[in-house]
Amino acid sequence: RVVVVGSANVDMIVRVEHLPEPGQTLLGTDVALRTGGKGANQAVAACRLGAETLLYAAVGTDAFGLQTREALAAEGVRLDHLVEVDGASTGMAMIMVAADGENTIVVAPGANHALDASATAGLAGVLAPGAVLAAQLEVPIDTCLAAADVARRAGARVVLNAAPLPKPGEPDFVALLRAVDVLIVNETEALALADRPAPSSPDGWILLARDLLRHGPAACVITLGGRGAVAHDGTCGWVQPAFAADVVDTTGAGDAFCGALAASLAGGDSLAEAVGRGCAAGALATGMLGAQAALPTRRQLDRLIGL
Ligand code: ADP
Repeated sequence: RVVVVGSANVDMIVRVEHLPEPGQTLLGTDVALRTGGKGANQAVAACRLGAETLLYAAVGTDAFGLQTREALAAEGVRLDHLVEVDGASTGMAMIMVAADGENTIVVAPGANHALDASATAGLAGVLAPGAVLAAQLEVPIDTCLAAADVARRAGARVVLNAAPLPKPGEPDFVALLRAVDVLIVNETEALALADRPAPSSPDGWILLARDLLRHGPAACVITLGGRGAVAHDGTCGWVQPAFAADVVDTTGAGDAFCGALAASLAGGDSLAEAVGRGCAAGALATGMLGAQAALPTRRQLDRLIGL
């Protein structure tokens, strides 16, 4: 079982010829409303791969909250712990995509900022040895920390995708990293957290993953886009090469990776197997426009891995 603690947003996407200047009014085309947010994306990623998946997240009491609930339920994500925050609006990302692919994004977190630490006690009933708690940081860090404590007490493993990266030294973040079994960061986050320039070789990235273990996690995975990922578990480090991808849109590759890694660990796989399945899911997720559209099923992922 995978329990995701994180954000749920509605992404409002509109295509424009070029991004507007301040004060300018433009005509756009192709408006799309999609479920997004790192928490919801990672929950859908895990669920499509066959893991029983619960989402602890917050939506508002507006129409978008209802839409989010229905979209996630249709995917099969369990919503027993989805919270409705009275009077709040559902988190929204307003995304403009220009003809040359450049974008401008404004995120209004709304209800996500009201996801309450005190209610995490209720997660004890759904976390047990073998289960995986998967958290990201688009919701209050003290809520993630409280959920991680509940997970550890229940004997479940904690996977943290430290995105967006908080300010260095943020006390709840420092404490959270010490409660983490697997830390997942992308290239930019890894460099910021290590406060180092980019390594020039795969071995350099493995050393950087090992270096990040000093913050407390038992293992660290760094995703490197089209170059795959590296990992270190305190004993050994390795490179997971990328899978070939027909890239249309890389949005959500990281969420696909994290959801697949969590589902794989919850299914009893080793960390090395889970990193491999994460990379395969990330590669497949780049094949369609949008964060959730191309999230693979178990069959699609097994086929790419050659099972
Ligand atoms: P984020 O979206 O968080 O920046 P990455 O870009 O590192 O994350 O992507 C996550 C994972 O998705 C990578 O580790 C890789 O396995 C896979 N991936 C991303 N882009 C590509 C690509 N162009 N080709 C193949 N795999 C990719």
